[in-house]
Amino acid sequence: MDTLMSLTAYGDNAQDALDKAAERINALEQSLSVTIPESDISRLNSSAGATVSVGEDALTIIQKSLEISEKSGGALDITIYPVLKAWGFTTGEYSAPASEELASLLELVDYTKIHINGSTVTLPEGYSVDLGALAKGYASGCAEDILRSSGVDCAILNLGGNVCAIGSRPDGEPWKVAVASPFEDEEYLGILTVEDKFIVTSGKYERFFIGEDGRKYHHIIDPETGYPSENGLAAVTVIGESGIECDALSTALLVLGEEKAQEYWRKNGGFEMILVTEDKRTIVTSGIAENFTNSSDRMTEVIN
Ligand code: AMP
Ligand code: MG
Repeated sequence: MDTLMSLTAYGDNAQDALDKAAERINALEQSLSVTIPESDISRLNSSAGATVSVGEDALTIIQKSLEISEKSGGALDITIYPVLKAWGFTTGEYSAPASEELASLLELVDYTKIHINGSTVTLPEGYSVDLGALAKGYASGCAEDILRSSGVDCAILNLGGNVCAIGSRPDGEPWKVAVASPFEDEEYLGILTVEDKFIVTSGKYERFFIGEDGRKYHHIIDPETGYPSENGLAAVTVIGESGIECDALSTALLVLGEEKAQEYWRKNGGFEMILVTEDKRTIVTSGIAENFTNSSDRMTEVIN
């Protein structure tokens, strides 16, 4: 998944459980990767309009993505892949595409065209998907399941910015999770104290390049424009009970922007969030405010 992962567990069965979790994550990579030709997703992307049978993992992730696409009005859209490729975010060969090229690629972006029937998926010819916005969250949920069913009730996992805190620390205190700062001049934004939660951050700072025009282009694309989302939000952290949902939401809310992200939270609920704006405001939802400590002397706005 092109990222660093660290899994730490405590207790009698911990090593064995961690080995199984790592095995599961590696197997997921094999079925979900867009760069492994035999993966479910590669087969789907090269299907040229034919119906493809996919495994349970790919199916679950695609279904969840469609649910969040629907609820976010298309801010999350896994059919964004052709646009991501044009920007070079899939290969690292970055360049800003011409606006005409983006306009024509956007004709291949529309999550409502994904059809699921039983365990088969059909994409229109020319369409392709990338599960990068939710796969790590799903993987962290799978790892959590394995650890818990192996009897582990004390662990902390970090799958490239997707943190899963199981139980509390070995000393009985809540886990302390540092939330990364989108700003270069500070090490981290603040500390969350949590038990049994997923904490997932999406940020413009995570992957970007500087274009020939000197502008910064980051990896989260607004499916309406085909350009990296520029709405005043620099990073979003989502705290909740489901790894895949937190991951899907962190990406979607970053695209939605400050106002719409708050609307989404008020309407749908079921999670807490921290929004960080380009002008260095930190906004946290009321359900997590008491568990968050700012690392700087900036004010934290609490919303209800
Ligand atoms: P995350 O780090 O979870 O926010 O996921 C970001 C990744 O999701 C990017 O690196 C792309 O692979 C992919 N992506 C970018 N924009 C979108 C979007 N609007 N909808 C779905 N996936 C996206
Ligand atoms: Mg995400």
